[in-house]
Formats: sequence, C-alpha cells, structure tokens
Amino acid sequence: MKQVELAPGIFHLQGGSNIGLVVWGGKGLLIDAGLDKDTARRALRAVEKAGAILEAVVITHAHADHFGGAYFLQRRLGMPIYAPALEAAMMEHPIIEPLYLFGGAAPIGELRHKFTLARPCRIDHILEPGPLEIGPFQVEVTPLPGHALNQVGVAVGEVLFCADAAFPAETLQKHKVTFCVDLDATLETLERLPDLSYAHFAPGHGPAYAAGEEIAQICAANQARLEEVRERVYAALEEPQETPALVQRVADHFGLRLTTATAYFLTRTTILAALSSLERAGKVTTTMEDNQLLWRRQEAQEVNRG
Ligand SMILES: [Zn+2]
Repeated sequence: MKQVELAPGIFHLQGGSNIGLVVWGGKGLLIDAGLDKDTARRALRAVEKAGAILEAVVITHAHADHFGGAYFLQRRLGMPIYAPALEAAMMEHPIIEPLYLFGGAAPIGELRHKFTLARPCRIDHILEPGPLEIGPFQVEVTPLPGHALNQVGVAVGEVLFCADAAFPAETLQKHKVTFCVDLDATLETLERLPDLSYAHFAPGHGPAYAAGEEIAQICAANQARLEEVRERVYAALEEPQETPALVQRVADHFGLRLTTATAYFLTRTTILAALSSLERAGKVTTTMEDNQLLWRRQEAQEVNRG
C-alpha cells in the first residue's frame, strides 16, 4: 500500500482499491475500508503509524472492494461507520450485490466470492449530502451517483475522495467497459466532477488527479468510453437483438475477452444501463418475439405518435 500525502494530514492509501486517511488532533478518519481484513489491517496500521486513534469509517458505495474490510475494523475497534442510504442497506445485507448481478435470483457460487460478496457490517449513520462533523473532522458529502446508485464523494479540506466516479487510464485500457448501473447519472457526474472546487481528486482506483486539466482529462476519457459503449449498443440494433448478443457485440468491438462469469455479469450490467439510457431517450424499446425479449430501435415518428 503506497501512502501519498495530498495535503497536510490527508493521505491517499493506494492499493488494489484505494483508501482515504485523514489525521487531525490524534484522531484518524478512513474513507472506505478496502476489500478484506488484510487491506483494512494495513489501513489501520497507517492510522496508528500517524499516531492516531481511528474515530470513524466513511464508506462511499457498497462494492465489496470498498467495504469488505469494514466488518474487521468494526469488530476490532467498534468505531461508527457512515454510509449513504441504499448503499448502507447493501452493506448490511451484502447478498444484494451478487443478487442484482444475477438478475435477482439466488446467485451462483462464482458470484459468492469476496470480490462480489463481502462480509456484512453495521451502518451507524446515514450520510446526507452537505457538510458533516465527525469528531474533529469537517467533511463535505457530495453525491456522485451512476457507478453505484447512491455513491458519494467525501471531501476534507481541499481533497475530494471521489470513489469510483472516474477510473484511471489503466482500467479503461484493461477492462474497456467500465461498470455502471445508471449510465446517464454517471455521465452527469463526470460532467460535474472537474468543476467542483477542490485542489485534489482522490479516486478509489489509480492515482490522484490535480484540479484543472488532469481531472478534466480523465473525466472526459471516462465519458467518451461510456458514450462509445452506448453508441455500439445502438449500432448493433440494425436488427432486433437479445441482450446476450449485445454483450457479445460490444465486447468484440473493444477486443475484450470475457473469461469469467463474473466479468460477464459485470459487463452485462453496463450494457443494460446503456439500454436503459437509450430507452429513456426514446431510442430503443423492447419487443417480445417467440418468447425472446428483443431490443429494437424506435423511430422518431413512432415516439411522436405516442
Ligand atoms: Zn465501485
């Protein structure tokens, strides 16, 4: 775990998934808790090395790689955990993550590993947008929805811990189709993020970005990728298609090889988010044919006719 001090007492702990650490007056605040016990233990060591006692943990969104370690900290120290509504429900009932990936049915074994099914933790406080005092810490909670329905960013001083609102170039290069549940909301978040008045943007994966050109560039790259995904979905509908065919067409377009069921279900979620965005815009609709649910383009005059 690499420790980068972005501002006095404000650290970005960079690893598989990053963690924020703020130290003030002998107290420590963590933003996210990592994938598992081992990651959380390393974060706790960083708190102790800074000569602080852990005051609280704030979780940005309910993905296993961000809150999987929270149960360990709670069991060990009993400090309070803060999370946004809805995300909080999923952290208390982590089965919801593999359950939604598997279309609401009891998830298969492969979706029950620690990357998609974390240990539960108790959420003590629901985060609302706006300023919040946690012990000696003054934080600002900013909604950053889209990647997760109710994801938030957490700002301390001039640093915004912006969770998975934007992925690093490396992820765009490797995974191609980034995960989102609401494509429109993700694009709006990416549009807004660079204009927020912070000096540093510390995401959940990859390095931190400086205000101005750096954050604007990575947000633009993320936006462009999701717009390309949506365009490819629409382009594939010259004939009506079932969802699996669209997953394949988009993956082929990006030269992406999906080698696990988990990768398939994650990619499918983003494709469904693209379809949902197109449907909202009146561009596609569903139709039933021979017991198949097909997606097809909706012509403009059809929409006008209602
Ligand atoms: Zn995430």
